[in-house]
Amino acid sequence: MENKSIMRSTYIFAGLFLIIILYFSYYLIAKSDSQMNNSYNKLTDKLSETTVRGIIYSRDGKVLAESKTDDEGNEYRYYPYGNLFCHGVGSLDYGKYGLEALYNYQLLSSDVSWISKVLDDLKGEKYKGNNVISTFDLELQKQAYDAMAQYKGAVIIMEADTGKVLTMMSNPSYNPNEAKDNWDTISNDENSPILNRATMGLYTPGSIFKLFTLEEYLEEGNDTEGYSFTCTGSVNIDGQSINCADRQRHGTLNLMGSFAHSCNGSFINIGSSLDIESFNKLCDRMLFNSKLPIDFPYKESSFSLSSDDNEFLKAQAYFGQGETLVTPIHMALISSAVANGGVLMKPMFVERIENTYGSTVTKYEPEEYTRLFSKEQADVLKEYMRSVVETGTAVRLNQFKNLTVYGKTGTAQIDNGNAANSWFIGFAEKDEKNYVITVVCEGVAKNISPAITVAGDILKVLD
Ligand SMILES: [Zn+2]
Repeated sequence: MENKSIMRSTYIFAGLFLIIILYFSYYLIAKSDSQMNNSYNKLTDKLSETTVRGIIYSRDGKVLAESKTDDEGNEYRYYPYGNLFCHGVGSLDYGKYGLEALYNYQLLSSDVSWISKVLDDLKGEKYKGNNVISTFDLELQKQAYDAMAQYKGAVIIMEADTGKVLTMMSNPSYNPNEAKDNWDTISNDENSPILNRATMGLYTPGSIFKLFTLEEYLEEGNDTEGYSFTCTGSVNIDGQSINCADRQRHGTLNLMGSFAHSCNGSFINIGSSLDIESFNKLCDRMLFNSKLPIDFPYKESSFSLSSDDNEFLKAQAYFGQGETLVTPIHMALISSAVANGGVLMKPMFVERIENTYGSTVTKYEPEEYTRLFSKEQADVLKEYMRSVVETGTAVRLNQFKNLTVYGKTGTAQIDNGNAANSWFIGFAEKDEKNYVITVVCEGVAKNISPAITVAGDILKVLD
């Protein structure tokens, strides 16, 4: 009897001990970076007294942020490319959301030998902090910035197979070098230059949403070969008419033609056959109303449709109007999964951390986040997205020597139909590598599609 109870206590203690070990391992491995960055502000304040903040580099070794000392011996942060990386790299004093904030602790840590620390002590110098090598590509970022010069909105370019984010830009922007003196003006600007529209901008998707309506239609096992719809330019739903873009009459279309030419009437027809509960489930699986695997602050995209909703609202939802809202980063993740055979890689913004002498401290590896589509589903969607560029609304992007472009366009009506958000989502294939590109131009005239032109201007760099 006694032996048994001793045995039992032993097991309980061993169990508790194991739990404690597991908890600490979890804490050290999984939580270390985020905990360090959130709750150790005091520690980092202390570190900055002893350590010169490290440099943030582009992936090809250009300095994007560095610490300098002014004539009076005060350290300050300098951003050689001004506005260009204000949302991605961020700024030290303001705009807390860039790499400056996310890698604050690493930039202020100095992983050098104790000998070089002693030498710095003897010289009366601060230790040199670690450097962050980002995934950002200077040339692509510049090109995106120039191409978007006259538009508000955002651009994201990433590698589908690694998740590396090469470009993340948001317009309007601000110059972090001038932030200290002009912060009130910048933060009160009604165009919100501080807002990172790439991750925080919630937009009506318009026709890019047809990708999800199509996928649900395919997953419900509907007839794809025999599908036919005759578009007369508008359809009447409960006494209200819904037009195709520019009141275009598309005539008779098959399923791929409906997608390539983005026929609203056909997608209302397709949508009305769908199981609404199952459609909601698909959208949840597609990361609507859900967390995204990124470290930058972001907004969740939202979709909900109920069989009790009126027919007009339902009809609008099938082609991306109505109440659905998406962020550019979310749309980039969806395209990247299609390009990557269904597998979504976790977006990467940093390749590695190095000490001041260039030795690697931490190397980040591409990481699979989840599978959004089966390989077969991804291949089918790819074919539909290719038809958009080959024969449909994005035929202007079928012009490159070395790139094969896949995508979907959108012109989402906003402001009671007086303006539009112009979208292009998709990817460009070159030598079996897929470059995901997402462009949104916000509040433009509704009869132009600048996102396609912007995408074309940027893709030239990769051609
Ligand atoms: Zn039509």
